[in-house]
Amino acid sequence: GLRIGVLALQGDFREHLHAVEAAGAAGIGVRRPAELDGLDGLIIPGGESTTIDKLSRAFGLSDPLRQRIQDGLPVYGSCAGMILLADEITDPAKDLAGNPQQTFGGLDITVRRNAFGRQRESFETDLDFKGLDFSATRDGVAPVHAVFIRGPWVERVGEGVQVLAKVEPSRASHPEALAGTARIVAVRSGKLLATSFHPEVTGEKRVHELFIRMIRGEA
Ligand code: GLN
Repeated sequence: GLRIGVLALQGDFREHLHAVEAAGAAGIGVRRPAELDGLDGLIIPGGESTTIDKLSRAFGLSDPLRQRIQDGLPVYGSCAGMILLADEITDPAKDLAGNPQQTFGGLDITVRRNAFGRQRESFETDLDFKGLDFSATRDGVAPVHAVFIRGPWVERVGEGVQVLAKVEPSRASHPEALAGTARIVAVRSGKLLATSFHPEVTGEKRVHELFIRMIRGEA
C-alpha cells in the first residue's frame, strides 16, 4: 500500500493521519529528515505556517523537504500547508529580528495569509471543486463542504497551475473582504495540491482521495 507522510510538527496532523488511513493508505507522522525516506507522498497540515516554518528549520527538515519537492515528491498542503507550498507570500510574518517567514515552495503561486479575516470570521461554505471523483458530478464538478479558519487565498497562479475551486463573495461570511472578486482556494500543479480549507476536519474524504489518485498517476 501507499505510505503517506504527514508533517507532524504542529497543527492538525492527527486529523490528516486519520483521513489518510480512512482513504486506505498508511499514514506516517514526519518529524525528522530520515522519516522522509520511502514516502509516496506528504501532507503539510493546517496550523500556523510561521511555527511550522521555524520548527522545520530547527529540526533540519526544511532543506531536505524543499529538495524532495523539487525532486517530484507529491505533496498536499491544507491552509498553513498551502502557505508553506507557495513560492511567494504577499504579507509574510517577520520574526523579532525582522526576517520574513520562509516557505518550502514548489508551487508557483502567491498567497495572502489570513485573507478572509480573523478567527471569528471563520466560515463554512459549499464549493464547486473540479476533478473530484464523485458519482453525482455535474460537468465534472462536485460540491465540497469547506471550512475556512483564518485561511489564505491565492492571489496569483503561475503558468501550469490549475485552479480547482474559488469562493464567490456571496458565499463568504465577510463578503467585503473579497472586494467583489471570486477568490482562488484550491490549486494543483503537477503532483502538488493545495487548499485554503480543511477537508480533514469535516469527514470530506474526496480531497485526500484525489491526492492518492495523483500519487498513483490516475489523476
Ligand atoms: N493563518 C494560518 C497561517 O498563516 C493558517 C491557518 C490554518 O491553517 N487554519 O499559517
